[in-house]
Amino acid sequence: MKAYIVSLGCPKNLVDTEGLMTQLAKMGHFFTSEPKEAELILVNTCAFLQSAKQEAIDTIKKLAQWKKKGQCRYLIAAGCLPQRYKHKCPELLPEADAFIGVPQKFSPEPKTQNLEPRIKATPPWFAYVKIAEGCNNNCAYCVVPMIRGKLRTRKIKDIMSEVKLLANSGVKEIIYVAQDTTVYPNFPSLLRKTCRIRGVKWVRVMYAHPAHISNKLIRVMAAEKKIVKYLDLPIQHVNDRILKLMKRRYLRLELEKLISRIRREIPSLALRTSVIVGFPGEGEAEFNELLAFIKQVKFSRLGVFTYSREPGTPAYKMRGQVSGRTKQARLDRIMRAQARVSWEQNQKMIGTTIETIIERSAQGGYIGRTAMDAPDIDGTILVRSTKTLKPGQIVSVRVKKAKTYDLIGCLT
Ligand code: SF4
Repeated sequence: MKAYIVSLGCPKNLVDTEGLMTQLAKMGHFFTSEPKEAELILVNTCAFLQSAKQEAIDTIKKLAQWKKKGQCRYLIAAGCLPQRYKHKCPELLPEADAFIGVPQKFSPEPKTQNLEPRIKATPPWFAYVKIAEGCNNNCAYCVVPMIRGKLRTRKIKDIMSEVKLLANSGVKEIIYVAQDTTVYPNFPSLLRKTCRIRGVKWVRVMYAHPAHISNKLIRVMAAEKKIVKYLDLPIQHVNDRILKLMKRRYLRLELEKLISRIRREIPSLALRTSVIVGFPGEGEAEFNELLAFIKQVKFSRLGVFTYSREPGTPAYKMRGQVSGRTKQARLDRIMRAQARVSWEQNQKMIGTTIETIIERSAQGGYIGRTAMDAPDIDGTILVRSTKTLKPGQIVSVRVKKAKTYDLIGCLT
Protein backbone atom coordinates (compact mmCIF):
# COMPACT_ATOMS: atom_id res chain seq x y z
CA MET A 1 0.00 0.00 0.00
CA LYS A 2 1.24 3.53 -0.70
CA ALA A 3 1.53 5.43 2.59
CA TYR A 4 1.74 9.16 3.31
CA ILE A 5 3.23 9.97 6.70
CA VAL A 6 3.12 13.18 8.73
CA SER A 7 5.22 13.67 11.85
CA LEU A 8 4.16 16.44 14.24
CA GLY A 9 5.96 17.75 17.30
CA CYS A 10 9.54 17.38 18.38
CA PRO A 11 12.52 15.28 17.24
CA LYS A 12 11.68 12.65 19.89
CA ASN A 13 8.38 12.09 18.13
CA LEU A 14 10.17 12.02 14.79
CA VAL A 15 12.21 9.05 16.02
CA ASP A 16 8.92 7.25 16.80
CA THR A 17 7.67 8.17 13.31
CA GLU A 18 10.81 6.64 11.84
CA GLY A 19 10.10 3.49 13.87
CA LEU A 20 6.54 3.34 12.51
CA MET A 21 7.84 3.84 8.95
CA THR A 22 10.36 1.04 9.43
CA GLN A 23 7.57 -1.29 10.58
CA LEU A 24 5.32 -0.29 7.66
CA ALA A 25 8.15 -0.88 5.18
CA LYS A 26 8.77 -4.33 6.67
CA MET A 27 5.09 -5.11 6.13
CA GLY A 28 5.54 -4.30 2.44
CA HIS A 29 4.17 -0.76 2.36
CA PHE A 30 6.03 2.03 0.58
CA PHE A 31 5.89 5.81 0.83
CA THR A 32 4.70 8.76 -1.18
CA SER A 33 5.04 12.49 -0.65
CA GLU A 34 1.62 13.10 -2.24
CA PRO A 35 -1.39 12.64 0.07
CA LYS A 36 -3.72 12.45 -2.90
CA GLU A 37 -2.16 9.22 -4.12
CA ALA A 38 -1.81 7.54 -0.71
CA GLU A 39 -3.98 4.58 0.25
CA LEU A 40 -2.89 4.88 3.86
CA ILE A 41 -2.39 8.20 5.66
CA LEU A 42 -0.76 8.14 9.07
CA VAL A 43 -0.27 11.17 11.32
CA ASN A 44 2.07 10.72 14.27
CA THR A 45 0.76 13.35 16.66
CA CYS A 46 2.02 15.47 19.54
CA ALA A 47 -0.29 16.36 22.43
CA PHE A 48 2.18 17.87 24.85
CA LEU A 49 0.38 21.24 24.82
CA GLN A 50 -3.18 22.30 24.02
CA SER A 51 -1.82 24.05 20.89
CA ALA A 52 -0.20 20.79 19.74
CA LYS A 53 -3.45 18.90 20.34
CA GLN A 54 -5.29 21.42 18.17
CA GLU A 55 -2.65 21.21 15.43
CA ALA A 56 -2.99 17.41 15.42
CA ILE A 57 -6.78 17.55 15.14
CA ASP A 58 -6.65 20.19 12.37
CA THR A 59 -4.03 18.21 10.42
CA ILE A 60 -6.04 14.98 10.55
CA LYS A 61 -9.31 16.70 9.65
CA LYS A 62 -7.62 18.39 6.69
CA LEU A 63 -6.13 15.12 5.45
CA ALA A 64 -9.53 13.42 5.72
CA GLN A 65 -10.46 15.16 2.43
CA TRP A 66 -8.33 12.55 0.60
CA LYS A 67 -10.75 9.82 1.66
CA LYS A 68 -13.29 11.45 -0.63
CA LYS A 69 -11.08 13.12 -3.23
CA GLY A 70 -8.10 10.71 -3.35
CA GLN A 71 -7.16 7.07 -2.92
CA CYS A 72 -7.11 7.01 0.89
CA ARG A 73 -8.63 3.90 2.44
CA TYR A 74 -7.22 4.20 5.94
CA LEU A 75 -6.58 7.34 7.96
CA ILE A 76 -4.65 6.60 11.14
CA ALA A 77 -3.87 8.83 14.14
CA ALA A 78 -0.84 7.66 16.10
CA GLY A 79 1.27 8.84 19.04
CA CYS A 80 0.63 11.23 21.89
CA LEU A 81 -2.90 12.38 21.01
CA PRO A 82 -4.50 8.89 21.09
CA GLN A 83 -2.33 8.02 24.08
CA ARG A 84 -3.46 11.07 26.07
CA TYR A 85 -7.08 11.18 24.95
CA LYS A 86 -7.72 7.43 24.56
CA HIS A 87 -11.45 7.56 25.21
CA LYS A 88 -12.19 10.91 23.61
CA CYS A 89 -10.44 10.23 20.29
CA PRO A 90 -13.32 8.56 18.38
CA GLU A 91 -15.50 11.55 19.28
CA LEU A 92 -12.78 14.14 18.54
CA LEU A 93 -11.82 12.55 15.23
CA PRO A 94 -14.64 10.53 13.69
CA GLU A 95 -12.76 10.82 10.35
CA ALA A 96 -9.95 8.53 11.58
CA ASP A 97 -10.15 4.77 11.03
CA ALA A 98 -7.74 3.72 13.76
CA PHE A 99 -5.82 5.09 16.73
CA ILE A 100 -2.39 3.88 17.86
CA GLY A 101 -0.78 5.07 21.11
CA VAL A 102 2.93 5.64 21.73
CA PRO A 103 5.33 2.70 21.25
CA GLN A 104 5.88 0.78 24.47
CA LYS A 105 9.28 -0.48 23.32
CA PHE A 106 12.09 1.32 21.63
CA SER A 107 12.23 1.04 17.94
CA PRO A 108 14.03 -0.35 16.15
CA GLU A 109 14.24 -3.35 18.45
CA PRO A 110 17.74 -4.57 19.26
CA LYS A 111 17.45 -7.69 17.06
CA THR A 112 16.77 -5.70 13.93
CA GLN A 113 19.51 -3.22 14.70
CA ASN A 114 22.21 -5.67 13.67
CA LEU A 115 20.63 -6.37 10.33
CA GLU A 116 19.61 -3.15 8.68
CA PRO A 117 19.36 0.55 9.41
CA ARG A 118 15.97 2.02 10.27
CA ILE A 119 14.15 4.31 7.91
CA LYS A 120 15.15 7.87 8.54
CA ALA A 121 13.00 10.93 7.94
CA THR A 122 15.89 13.39 8.34
CA PRO A 123 18.49 14.29 5.68
CA PRO A 124 21.16 11.60 5.15
CA TRP A 125 23.87 13.43 7.12
CA PHE A 126 22.24 13.59 10.55
CA ALA A 127 20.12 11.35 12.75
CA TYR A 128 18.28 11.70 16.02
CA VAL A 129 18.96 8.82 18.37
CA LYS A 130 16.65 8.34 21.31
CA ILE A 131 18.45 6.98 24.36
CA ALA A 132 15.59 6.87 26.86
CA GLU A 133 11.83 7.08 26.94
CA GLY A 134 9.50 8.51 29.60
CA CYS A 135 10.43 10.75 32.49
CA ASN A 136 10.45 10.58 36.31
CA ASN A 137 11.00 14.29 36.89
CA ASN A 138 7.32 15.19 37.15
CA CYS A 139 7.64 18.91 36.54
CA ALA A 140 4.38 20.48 37.70
CA TYR A 141 3.31 21.73 34.26
CA CYS A 142 4.21 18.71 32.18
CA VAL A 143 2.06 15.89 30.79
CA VAL A 144 4.95 13.88 29.39
CA PRO A 145 5.15 11.46 32.36
CA MET A 146 1.38 10.88 31.95
CA ILE A 147 1.68 10.18 28.23
CA ARG A 148 5.08 8.54 27.96
CA GLY A 149 5.27 6.84 31.37
CA LYS A 150 8.20 6.24 33.70
CA LEU A 151 11.79 6.52 32.57
CA ARG A 152 13.16 3.53 30.63
CA THR A 153 16.70 3.67 29.26
CA ARG A 154 18.13 1.76 26.31
CA LYS A 155 21.12 -0.52 26.70
CA ILE A 156 24.39 1.16 25.74
CA LYS A 157 25.30 -1.68 23.37
CA ASP A 158 22.01 -1.30 21.50
CA ILE A 159 22.58 2.43 21.12
CA MET A 160 26.12 1.77 19.87
CA SER A 161 24.87 -0.79 17.31
CA GLU A 162 22.38 1.75 16.03
CA VAL A 163 24.97 4.52 15.83
CA LYS A 164 27.39 2.22 13.95
CA LEU A 165 24.68 1.35 11.43
CA LEU A 166 23.81 5.00 10.98
CA ALA A 167 27.48 5.96 10.55
CA ASN A 168 27.97 3.17 8.00
CA SER A 169 25.03 4.49 6.04
CA GLY A 170 26.62 7.96 5.82
CA VAL A 171 25.29 9.77 8.91
CA LYS A 172 27.89 12.23 10.19
CA GLU A 173 26.01 13.92 13.04
CA ILE A 174 24.42 11.98 15.89
CA ILE A 175 21.94 13.97 17.96
CA TYR A 176 21.08 12.36 21.26
CA VAL A 177 17.52 12.99 22.42
CA ALA A 178 15.31 11.87 25.33
CA GLN A 179 12.93 13.72 27.62
CA ASP A 180 16.03 14.27 29.76
CA THR A 181 19.24 12.98 28.16
CA THR A 182 21.44 13.71 31.17
CA VAL A 183 19.58 11.23 33.36
CA TYR A 184 20.99 8.42 31.20
CA PRO A 185 23.27 6.25 33.40
CA ASN A 186 26.88 7.04 32.65
CA PHE A 187 26.02 9.46 29.86
CA PRO A 188 29.66 10.72 29.61
CA SER A 189 30.78 7.18 28.79
CA LEU A 190 28.06 6.87 26.11
CA LEU A 191 29.31 10.10 24.55
CA ARG A 192 32.93 9.00 24.66
CA LYS A 193 32.09 5.66 23.02
CA THR A 194 30.11 7.47 20.32
CA CYS A 195 33.14 9.60 19.49
CA ARG A 196 35.18 6.44 18.85
CA ILE A 197 32.83 5.29 16.08
CA ARG A 198 34.27 5.75 12.59
CA GLY A 199 32.25 8.00 10.37
CA VAL A 200 30.71 9.98 13.24
CA LYS A 201 31.94 13.57 12.96
CA TRP A 202 29.63 15.51 15.26
CA VAL A 203 27.83 14.45 18.46
CA ARG A 204 25.14 16.76 19.84
CA VAL A 205 23.25 16.69 23.15
CA MET A 206 19.68 17.97 23.38
CA TYR A 207 17.38 18.27 26.42
CA ALA A 208 19.97 18.34 29.22
CA HIS A 209 18.28 18.84 32.60
CA PRO A 210 20.20 21.39 34.72
CA ALA A 211 19.84 19.22 37.85
CA HIS A 212 21.59 16.27 36.18
CA ILE A 213 24.74 17.78 34.67
CA SER A 214 27.80 16.23 36.28
CA ASN A 215 31.34 17.60 36.30
CA LYS A 216 32.37 14.47 34.41
CA LEU A 217 29.91 15.29 31.62
CA ILE A 218 31.30 18.81 31.30
CA ARG A 219 34.88 17.47 31.22
CA VAL A 220 34.03 14.92 28.51
CA MET A 221 32.23 17.55 26.45
CA ALA A 222 35.27 19.81 26.74
CA ALA A 223 37.80 17.10 25.89
CA GLU A 224 36.13 15.26 23.01
CA LYS A 225 36.63 17.05 19.70
CA LYS A 226 33.67 15.36 18.04
CA ILE A 227 31.20 16.61 20.65
CA VAL A 228 29.99 19.91 19.24
CA LYS A 229 30.44 22.85 21.59
CA TYR A 230 26.73 23.30 21.99
CA LEU A 231 24.42 22.40 24.83
CA ASP A 232 20.66 22.56 25.05
CA LEU A 233 19.93 23.34 28.71
CA PRO A 234 16.25 24.20 29.29
CA ILE A 235 16.17 26.32 32.47
CA GLN A 236 12.42 27.22 32.27
CA HIS A 237 12.70 29.97 34.92
CA VAL A 238 15.08 31.54 37.43
CA ASN A 239 12.90 32.83 40.23
CA ASP A 240 13.25 30.46 43.20
CA ARG A 241 9.57 30.50 44.15
CA ILE A 242 8.50 29.73 40.57
CA LEU A 243 11.20 27.06 40.20
CA LYS A 244 9.91 25.39 43.37
CA LEU A 245 6.32 25.57 42.14
CA MET A 246 7.47 24.12 38.83
CA LYS A 247 9.26 21.31 40.73
CA ARG A 248 12.39 21.82 38.64
CA ARG A 249 14.73 20.55 41.42
CA TYR A 250 17.21 23.45 41.28
CA LEU A 251 17.32 27.06 42.41
CA ARG A 252 18.74 30.19 40.80
CA LEU A 253 22.08 30.04 42.60
CA GLU A 254 22.69 26.46 41.46
CA LEU A 255 21.84 27.45 37.90
CA GLU A 256 24.23 30.38 38.02
CA LYS A 257 27.02 28.18 39.35
CA LEU A 258 26.33 25.54 36.71
CA ILE A 259 26.38 28.02 33.84
CA SER A 260 29.63 29.60 35.08
CA ARG A 261 31.21 26.15 35.44
CA ILE A 262 30.18 25.12 31.93
CA ARG A 263 31.45 28.37 30.45
CA ARG A 264 34.72 28.18 32.36
CA GLU A 265 35.42 24.64 31.12
CA ILE A 266 34.16 25.20 27.54
CA PRO A 267 34.55 28.91 26.72
CA SER A 268 33.49 28.51 23.07
CA LEU A 269 30.24 26.73 23.96
CA ALA A 270 26.95 27.90 22.45
CA LEU A 271 24.40 27.55 25.23
CA ARG A 272 20.79 27.09 24.21
CA THR A 273 17.93 27.36 26.67
CA SER A 274 14.16 27.55 26.81
CA VAL A 275 11.93 29.36 29.28
CA ILE A 276 8.24 29.39 30.17
CA VAL A 277 6.48 32.70 30.83
CA GLY A 278 3.17 33.09 32.64
CA PHE A 279 3.45 30.08 34.98
CA PRO A 280 0.82 30.36 37.75
CA GLY A 281 2.04 32.81 40.37
CA GLU A 282 4.42 34.62 38.02
CA GLY A 283 3.85 38.29 38.78
CA GLU A 284 5.69 41.28 37.28
CA ALA A 285 8.54 40.90 39.81
CA GLU A 286 9.19 37.23 38.98
CA PHE A 287 8.93 37.91 35.27
CA ASN A 288 11.33 40.87 35.50
CA GLU A 289 13.81 38.67 37.32
CA LEU A 290 13.70 36.22 34.40
CA LEU A 291 14.03 39.01 31.84
CA ALA A 292 17.01 40.55 33.64
CA PHE A 293 18.67 37.12 33.87
CA ILE A 294 18.33 36.59 30.14
CA LYS A 295 19.84 39.99 29.41
CA GLN A 296 22.67 39.33 31.81
CA VAL A 297 23.56 35.69 31.07
CA LYS A 298 23.25 36.11 27.28
CA PHE A 299 22.35 32.65 26.04
CA SER A 300 23.48 32.04 22.47
CA ARG A 301 20.06 30.59 21.58
CA LEU A 302 16.76 30.82 23.40
CA GLY A 303 13.23 29.52 22.95
CA VAL A 304 10.32 30.95 24.91
CA PHE A 305 6.91 29.40 25.51
CA THR A 306 3.78 30.73 27.14
CA TYR A 307 2.62 28.46 29.96
CA SER A 308 -0.08 26.09 28.74
CA ARG A 309 -2.65 24.99 31.33
CA GLU A 310 -2.72 21.22 30.89
CA PRO A 311 -5.53 19.20 32.52
CA GLY A 312 -4.24 16.51 34.85
CA THR A 313 -1.04 18.33 35.85
CA PRO A 314 -0.51 19.80 39.35
CA ALA A 315 -0.07 23.31 37.86
CA TYR A 316 -3.53 23.17 36.32
CA LYS A 317 -5.11 23.70 39.73
CA MET A 318 -2.62 26.26 41.03
CA ARG A 319 -3.79 29.69 42.04
CA GLY A 320 -2.54 32.78 40.26
CA GLN A 321 -3.17 31.69 36.65
CA VAL A 322 -1.93 34.42 34.30
CA SER A 323 -4.11 35.84 31.52
CA GLY A 324 -3.39 34.96 27.90
CA ARG A 325 -2.73 38.58 27.02
CA THR A 326 -0.13 39.02 29.78
CA LYS A 327 1.58 35.76 28.83
CA GLN A 328 1.84 36.86 25.21
CA ALA A 329 3.16 40.32 26.20
CA ARG A 330 5.82 38.66 28.37
CA LEU A 331 6.81 36.33 25.56
CA ASP A 332 7.22 39.31 23.24
CA ARG A 333 9.40 41.14 25.77
CA ILE A 334 11.68 38.11 26.16
CA MET A 335 11.90 37.68 22.39
CA ARG A 336 12.85 41.34 21.93
CA ALA A 337 15.54 41.12 24.60
CA GLN A 338 16.91 37.90 23.11
CA ALA A 339 16.97 39.37 19.61
CA ARG A 340 19.42 42.01 20.91
CA VAL A 341 21.51 39.38 22.69
CA SER A 342 21.53 37.18 19.61
CA TRP A 343 22.61 40.06 17.37
CA GLU A 344 25.45 40.95 19.75
CA GLN A 345 26.59 37.33 20.03
CA ASN A 346 26.50 36.91 16.25
CA GLN A 347 28.55 40.11 15.72
CA LYS A 348 31.26 38.52 17.87
CA MET A 349 31.39 35.62 15.43
CA ILE A 350 32.64 37.88 12.58
CA GLY A 351 36.20 36.92 11.69
CA THR A 352 36.03 33.52 13.36
CA THR A 353 36.19 30.20 11.54
CA ILE A 354 33.51 27.68 12.19
CA GLU A 355 32.81 24.09 11.09
CA THR A 356 29.71 24.00 8.94
CA ILE A 357 27.66 21.25 7.39
CA ILE A 358 26.35 22.05 3.91
CA GLU A 359 22.60 21.48 3.59
CA ARG A 360 21.49 22.80 0.19
CA SER A 361 22.44 25.16 -2.59
CA ALA A 362 21.19 28.75 -2.61
CA GLN A 363 21.69 31.91 -4.60
CA GLY A 364 25.36 32.88 -4.33
CA GLY A 365 26.41 29.68 -2.59
CA TYR A 366 25.02 27.24 -0.09
CA ILE A 367 22.91 27.17 3.04
CA GLY A 368 24.74 25.47 5.85
CA ARG A 369 24.40 24.86 9.55
CA THR A 370 27.29 25.47 11.91
CA ALA A 371 28.32 23.08 14.66
CA MET A 372 26.74 25.62 17.04
CA ASP A 373 23.29 25.20 15.55
CA ALA A 374 20.85 22.32 15.88
CA PRO A 375 18.65 21.40 12.89
CA ASP A 376 15.33 23.21 12.54
CA ILE A 377 15.49 25.19 15.79
CA ASP A 378 18.63 27.31 15.42
CA GLY A 379 20.05 29.60 12.72
CA THR A 380 21.74 28.98 9.38
CA ILE A 381 24.82 30.28 7.58
CA LEU A 382 25.00 31.35 3.96
CA VAL A 383 28.29 30.01 2.62
CA ARG A 384 29.51 31.96 -0.40
CA SER A 385 31.46 29.65 -2.65
CA THR A 386 32.39 29.28 -6.29
CA LYS A 387 33.47 25.70 -5.57
CA THR A 388 30.90 22.94 -5.87
CA LEU A 389 29.95 21.59 -2.47
CA LYS A 390 27.80 18.58 -1.66
CA PRO A 391 24.98 18.44 0.88
CA GLY A 392 26.32 16.75 3.99
CA GLN A 393 29.89 17.95 3.38
CA ILE A 394 31.58 19.51 6.44
CA VAL A 395 33.68 22.58 5.61
CA SER A 396 35.48 25.36 7.48
CA VAL A 397 33.78 28.72 7.01
CA ARG A 398 35.06 32.17 7.93
CA VAL A 399 32.24 34.39 9.16
CA LYS A 400 32.06 37.70 7.25
CA LYS A 401 28.71 39.18 8.23
CA ALA A 402 26.13 38.57 10.92
CA LYS A 403 22.41 39.14 11.16
CA THR A 404 20.25 38.65 14.25
CA TYR A 405 19.90 34.90 13.90
CA ASP A 406 21.84 33.97 10.75
CA LEU A 407 25.39 34.34 9.49
CA ILE A 408 27.11 34.88 6.15
CA GLY A 409 30.58 33.51 5.44
CA CYS A 410 32.94 32.06 2.88
CA LEU A 411 35.17 29.02 2.60
CA THR A 412 38.59 29.35 4.25
S1 SF4 B 1 11.97 16.94 32.63
FE1 SF4 B 1 10.88 17.57 30.76
S2 SF4 B 1 9.66 15.78 30.17
FE2 SF4 B 1 10.30 15.43 32.27
S3 SF4 B 1 8.57 16.18 33.49
FE3 SF4 B 1 10.04 17.89 33.31
S4 SF4 B 1 9.40 19.05 31.49
FE4 SF4 B 1 8.35 17.05 31.43
